Amino acid sequence: MLGEYKLVLGLEIHMHVKTAQKMFCGCNADFYGAPANTHTCPTCLGLPGALPVPNFEAVKKTQLLGLAFGCKLSKHSRFDRKHYFYPDLPKGYQISQYKNPLCIGGDLALSSGNIAKLERIHLEEDTAKSFHEGARTLIDFNKSGVPLIELVTKPCFTSVEDAVEFSKKVWDVVRLLGVSDADMEKGQLRIEPNISLRTQKMEKEDRLPDYKVEVKNINSFRFMEKAVKAEILRQRKMLDAGESIPQENRGYDESTKTTVSQRSKEEAHDYRYFPEPDIPPMEFDEKHFKALQEQLPKLPWEVEARLVKDYGLSERVAASFVSGATIALINTFEKVVDKGVPAKKAANLLLNNLTFRNLSVEDFVAKVRASEEVMGDSKQLGKIVKEVLSDNPGAVEKYKSGNEAVLQFLIGQVMRETRGKADPSVVEKLIIGA
Ligand code: ZN
Ligand code: MN
Repeated sequence: MLGEYKLVLGLEIHMHVKTAQKMFCGCNADFYGAPANTHTCPTCLGLPGALPVPNFEAVKKTQLLGLAFGCKLSKHSRFDRKHYFYPDLPKGYQISQYKNPLCIGGDLALSSGNIAKLERIHLEEDTAKSFHEGARTLIDFNKSGVPLIELVTKPCFTSVEDAVEFSKKVWDVVRLLGVSDADMEKGQLRIEPNISLRTQKMEKEDRLPDYKVEVKNINSFRFMEKAVKAEILRQRKMLDAGESIPQENRGYDESTKTTVSQRSKEEAHDYRYFPEPDIPPMEFDEKHFKALQEQLPKLPWEVEARLVKDYGLSERVAASFVSGATIALINTFEKVVDKGVPAKKAANLLLNNLTFRNLSVEDFVAKVRASEEVMGDSKQLGKIVKEVLSDNPGAVEKYKSGNEAVLQFLIGQVMRETRGKADPSVVEKLIIGA
C-alpha cells in the first residue's frame, strides 16, 4: 500500500475526564441525555466577567494517566488561552495548556517491538456542540467546559497497526484507571491521526516531511484504520504525480471511503497562546506525586500477565479480559475468585454473561453456588464437559487413540470445575458421548 514510501504517523487523542463537575465551574459534567442547555452557568457559557476555577480532580486524573505512561510530571504547570473563533466557543478562546503541560514525554512498548513515544498529556476544556438543522444552527452548551485530556504522541508510528494498538491501549488504560469512561459512541474518546509520507532516504536521514494531514474526530478503531489507509493512498498518488501535499485538516467519509478537506491547518502561532490570567500557575510537590504513584493500580499489560501466571487463565482469555469493557471488572473477578469461585469460571461468566457483570460480589458468588446445586441438570453439566474437553485437546487426542486411563483425568477435571457437585458416572457418560 505504501509503495516506495514510508509512513509517518502521530496521534492526538482527546478524552472526557470522568469527574462530577466541569473543568472550570460547578456544573454537573454528566450531561448525557439531558435536555439541551440545562448544564450551564455563566462560566461555561463564556459570559464576560465569569471566573474559571480549575477542577483538581481532573488535574489529578491527568497526572495519574501520565504516570501510567511513564511521563515526567511537571512541578510547575499552568493553563494558557488558545485563541480561535467558533460559534461553539463564545469566549473566543479555549483554556488549554501550551508551554507547561501537566505531563511530558513517556512511552509504551508495542507488540511489534516498536516503542510508542509520547510528546505530552495536557488538560483543557471541551467546546459546546453545534447542530445544523437546514438553514439554521443550534448550539447546546451542556458539553461546553467538560474536562478534556489531550494526549499527543511524537510522529513515531510507522504502521497503522501500531497506531491502532496504541490507541486501544490508551482506551483500556483510561477505563482501568477510572480517568475516562471513554465511550466512543458518546464521543468521550476521539482520535486524530496526523499522517504524512516520506521517502526511504528521508527516513534514513531522520528527516520529517514538511507537511502533515490531520484526520479529525475519529470515533472508532475500525474507522481509524480505514481513514489512515485512504489517506496513504491519496497522498501516495499525489506524490507520485509530483504534487506537493497541502497541510490541512480532513474528515473521513465512510460513504465514499475517502477523506475530505475541512480547513487548512493553523500553525501554533495563529492561536496567539498566552498564560491564562484568571488562573494562578499550579505548583506540585513530591508528596503529591508520591500519593498519586500509590494510587496507580497494575496496568492492563501487567494485569494480563498476572491473569495467566497467578490465575491460570489462557493467554487468549487474559487478553480479551483486559481489552474491552471487562477491564473494569478485574476487581470483581479477583474478589469472587477469593471467595472460592474457580478462576476460569469467573472469567467465563464475566466475559460472556452480561447479567453477571452487574452483580455485587456477594450476589455473584451466591448465583454461582445456586447454579452448582442443580448440577444434575445435564445441559449445564454438558457445557462444562465441553469446556473441559476443549481446554484439554491433548488428553482428548490420547483418549481417542486408545489411552483409556486419560478418561479418569478428564472426569477429574470436570469434577474440579463443578467443585465435586457432579455425578461422576454421568460425567463419564457425557465425555464418552462427546
Ligand atoms: Zn458551568
Ligand atoms: Mn485539544
